[in-house]
Parts: sequence; C-alpha cells; structure tokens
Amino acid sequence: MNDPVAEVREVAFDPVQDGRAQREVRVELRRRPEPKAHRVDPSQMPRSGPLVDSYNRIHDDLRLSITDRCNFRCVYCMPGEGMVFQERSELLSFDELYRVASIARGLGVNSVRLTGGEPLIRRGVVGFIARLGALGFEDIAMTTNGTKLAEHARALREGGLRRVNISCDSLRADRFRAIRRRGELDEVLDAMSAAEAAGLGPIKVNVVLIAGVNDDEVIDFATFGRETNRIVRFIEFMPLDAPGHWQRSEVVPGARIFEQINARFPLEAVRSDVIDPAPAQRFRYVDGKGEIGLISSVTEPFCGTCNRLRLTADGAIRNCLFSNDESSIRDLLRSGATDAQIETVFRQAVWGKFPGHGINDPGFLRPQRSMSMIGG
Ligand code: SAM
Ligand code: SF4
Repeated sequence: MNDPVAEVREVAFDPVQDGRAQREVRVELRRRPEPKAHRVDPSQMPRSGPLVDSYNRIHDDLRLSITDRCNFRCVYCMPGEGMVFQERSELLSFDELYRVASIARGLGVNSVRLTGGEPLIRRGVVGFIARLGALGFEDIAMTTNGTKLAEHARALREGGLRRVNISCDSLRADRFRAIRRRGELDEVLDAMSAAEAAGLGPIKVNVVLIAGVNDDEVIDFATFGRETNRIVRFIEFMPLDAPGHWQRSEVVPGARIFEQINARFPLEAVRSDVIDPAPAQRFRYVDGKGEIGLISSVTEPFCGTCNRLRLTADGAIRNCLFSNDESSIRDLLRSGATDAQIETVFRQAVWGKFPGHGINDPGFLRPQRSMSMIGG
C-alpha cells in the first residue's frame, strides 16, 4: 500500500541575495488527507468466481503496463526533460508478467491490453504477445504511439494481437511535433496503414484534446476518420500528467466535441442491449461513414460500469487510474508466493474499489503516479 504521506519542500529565499532561492532548508512531511470514507467488509469478499467489487462490478479487463519508458515526451504526459524511469530490475520480467496474466485469466479476465510507457520499445514484446495468445484471452489489444508498429505489425498479429489503438494528437506535422516533442506525424500515419495491412483494423486513433492547443482540429479528425474508416476517439485531458500542470480550463468537454461534429456530420448513439463497460461513448455517422468515441473521463465519468484493473510495470495492481492506493505483487512473485496468494491480492484490490474516481470531488488528490507510470 502507498505511504499516505506527501513530501512538501520549503525553499529559503534570501532577500539580500536578490530573492534567489538559496537552498532547501526544510523538508516537511505532511499527512495526506484521509480518503473519503469507503468501508468495505472484507469478510464479504468472494473467494471464488469472477473478480467482483463491493458495487457488483465484475472486472474482466486487465491493462498490463510492460514498461514505464517511452521514446516520446508528450506535453500532457511527461516533462520535456528529466522524467525519471524505474530501474530495469524493478520492472516485472516477461516470465513474471506471463504468470500474472495467467492467474488473471483463471480469475475470469477475458481481455488484456498492453500499454506503458510505450509498449513497443520493450525488447521481446512480440514473443510475449505470442505467449499471451496461448492463454485463451478473448481479446488482446495494445495502445501505442505507433513509432515501432510498422516493423512489428505482422508478427504481432500472427502472435495473437487483435486490436490496436494508436495515439495521434494532431494532423499537422509541426503541431504533432510540438505536442509529442519527438517523432514525426508521417511515421505514425504509416503505422496506421501497416497495422491495417497486417489485419489489425479497424484501428482506433486516440486524440487527447487540449483547449487552445489542438481543439481546432475536431472537424479535421472527424473527416480523417470518415475518409480512412478509422475510429477516432477524443480523450479529455486528465490530471495525470507527470509535471502536474493540468488545469480544468484545458479540458475540452466531450459534449462540446459532440455538438461540433454533429452539426457538420450528424451522429447517432450506438446502442447496445448489453451494458457496455468500454470507456468511450460511441456515436456513428448517420450517413454510415463510420463512428467516433468520446472518452469524457473528467466531465462525464463512466465509473459505474468500470470493469478495468491495471498492473503497473513494476508489478502493482491498481483498481483505478486515479487511485491513491495500490497493492504490489512483485515482492510476492519474487519470494515464492503461491498462485492462491496472488489471487487473494487481486481479489482484495478489486473488492476495495471506490464507486468512482472522484476527480470532481472537492477533496480530490491526484495520484502520485502519472499516466505513463500507471499504464494508460
Ligand atoms: N505510449 C502509448 C501511447 O501514447 O499510445 C501508450 C501509453 S499512453 C500513457 C496511453 C494513452 O494515454 C494514450 O492514448 C495517451 O494519449 C493517453 N494519455 C496520456 N496522458 C494523458 C492525460 N494526461 N490525459 C488523457 N490521456 C492521456
Ligand atoms: Fe509516451 Fe504515450 Fe506518454 Fe506520449 S502518451 S509520452 S507516447 S507514454
């Protein structure tokens, strides 16, 4: 469990020295406010059957982060310089990841999504997908920035990868570079084509919109999706950037995106008889030219149907992106724990899940780990 203590640095300023910061004089530990009351009765936790929380949400979707490293430095995710990554020895090996995945499979997890950091920069990922493929998951997917996808797409597909989400936040080369700080738009567009040629289509294109940065490209992206048969998913900027610069005013509400696209290309909701736990609200174009997704995590949280849990690259189970609490299983894995012991940690992590992420609550505290450290 996380230490609920936050570090607060105080820096001394010396007016005689032009007010320049002299040195850090005090490091004070301030207790984080206790999370709002959330009591679950451990004796009620099921010891068999699917992974279920105390609100009856069944968890059958696992996000596996396989690295916290990345070859990009997107403005909404990492600082331009100085991002600190974990030691390689702290990350789970592929054998450890495989063991966790097989335990999760036994607990009813049907779908796995590989993420990071950038999953395709970890050597051996193609072979790992093939091993996962043999575990019988109904769905194996990946979220990637696309830079290494063209070279691996066919092998990934043959290994059992079924779907891919490719992040791309601008269709203008100079702006793409400014947002992602590294890489080229053309490389990512080529990756989309390569993924389709390898049988990974229809692909989803993840677009994080930031007010005043790229929100003038909503119609361009809609047009792009309609012309290429790619499903563009507009994601609200979440308070999960490592520098901690997120501002609510930078969030582009999904409802506004809907209005803008609907006025130009009429949309209708994609209805389903079953409750869809996917985070995106799906809309299709009335003229049949594909669909879009809106992931309005900030303005319209979808926690009520959440079925996801996450494993960080260093082996911590998190029941929510925004959780301030996590359970490490790495040490258990490395100290000879049985599968049954690890299953119990999974069950406890899910059982203790809050009803919602609380971003809009007055006492909201952003998690200590940022998106790329958790696995988006
Ligand atoms: N590196 C891969 C990529 O960029 O697709 C996978 C990991 S990335 C953390 C997963 C997704 O999270 C990407 O679609 C990215 O755009 C999104 N993301 C990162 N930081 C975010 C933030 N602060 N708010 C909303 N989405 C974010
Ligand atoms: Fe890397 Fe993905 Fe974060 Fe961008 S969003 S810095 S590509 S992990």
